[in-house]
Amino acid sequence: TEACLTEIEGAGALNAFVHDTSDLAREQARAADVRIKAGDAPSLCGIPLGIKDLFCTRGVPSQAASAILEGFRPEYESTVTQNLFDAGAVMLGKLNMDEFAMGSSNETSVYGNAVNPWKVDDRQLTPGGSSGGSAAAVAADLCLAATGTDTGGSIRQPAAFTGITGIKPTYGRCSRWGIVAFASSLDQAGPMTKTVRDSAIMLQTMCGHDPKDSTSADIPVPDFEAMLTGDIKGKVIGIPREYRMDGMPAEIEKLWADGSAMLKDAGAEIRDISLPHTKYALPAYYVIAPAEASSNLARYDGVRYGHRARLEQGDGITEMYEKTRAEGFGDEVKRRVMVGTYVLSAGFYDAYYNRARKVRTLIKRDFEQVFDAGVDAILTPATPSAAFGLGEMANADPVQMYLNDVFTVTVNLAGLPGIAVPAGIDAKGLPLGLQLIGRPWEEGDLLNTAYALE
Ligand code: GLN
Repeated sequence: TEACLTEIEGAGALNAFVHDTSDLAREQARAADVRIKAGDAPSLCGIPLGIKDLFCTRGVPSQAASAILEGFRPEYESTVTQNLFDAGAVMLGKLNMDEFAMGSSNETSVYGNAVNPWKVDDRQLTPGGSSGGSAAAVAADLCLAATGTDTGGSIRQPAAFTGITGIKPTYGRCSRWGIVAFASSLDQAGPMTKTVRDSAIMLQTMCGHDPKDSTSADIPVPDFEAMLTGDIKGKVIGIPREYRMDGMPAEIEKLWADGSAMLKDAGAEIRDISLPHTKYALPAYYVIAPAEASSNLARYDGVRYGHRARLEQGDGITEMYEKTRAEGFGDEVKRRVMVGTYVLSAGFYDAYYNRARKVRTLIKRDFEQVFDAGVDAILTPATPSAAFGLGEMANADPVQMYLNDVFTVTVNLAGLPGIAVPAGIDAKGLPLGLQLIGRPWEEGDLLNTAYALE
């Protein structure tokens, strides 16, 4: 813990940690020390972690990187962080992210962007988003592991951009209780770690049934670490042809081909597959996610949490809502709220929201058919490119930024587990990641396949 706190102090330029909890960390570390000496050390005893600012942590600022939650210190602990603390983990601090987890570059954060520890010729790069602080902190050795959340790729894309591992488990595996909601039918927490083994250990602790989240699944959690044998003989790995996008960079094509060759050498059968509705996933996601966000974010009204605007004489409750929300939300969040309310409005509900829900069902069915035909896991690139420069996309059309999520959103729409593992470097020396998508509830198998690729 002390070594990490020293590293964090020296790495301010990465802007990865946004709330310091070093006093708490030292207290937790001392308690861990006592347990270790007493021979009663649980699985993560004394392991120093970073926690994404989206998790509510008792008494500690939990702002979802938004001005609207300024001053909010929850009186409760999210189930995932409680599970980690019960296992003896230490919280070093809260980690930077895109505001309300909306973004792919960490540039929508009220704290300013986190920075990728990887560079090309001193050009600063994004660590990805929304879990950009988590990715930067793990990649730069500021903590041993971090929590992330993934609604459309926010664990896997930043993991790929920083050369680390991150898994989004099956929807329902981790409790969403106490995690600031973005799009409730898509949000899942997961670990961001240096290795597949660390992901297995972290996920084991984070997940499990929670009666406080009605979508949390009451399904046994196997011993993920024990499933890491590296043996994938006879496993069928699908290569979906629809993920071969026009204009895909040659190095991504090569990464994908090399990954598939590696799995084949390890004894897997490689099979070409089709997921025909893939091209509708991104548009469906960017209807469903903002729709749910617009509803979830209605609670930030200046009454119950965080920031309240200064009011003028004569202002009523409507002015209070309007001014508070105008001041408290950033541009990307406002864009999502507007898109969301539009697609849910009486006149457009059927044309947009209902249609997107039907597309979602078709996407889910595509995966079911492939798994029913015997495919065990699906291999794709994690991202369409390596990490891009800060400012490069944020200043462009927002749709350019949304296109980053093209390989990851299908997994959330279908509720499946997906993992990003570092799999190579590009011509400029930047890390590239591959994604493996698994059957529901089979994170153990998925981790093992990723382990064979590591
Ligand atoms: N980049 C995607 C978005 O902006 C995904 C974000 C996420 O997974 N939280 O919605």
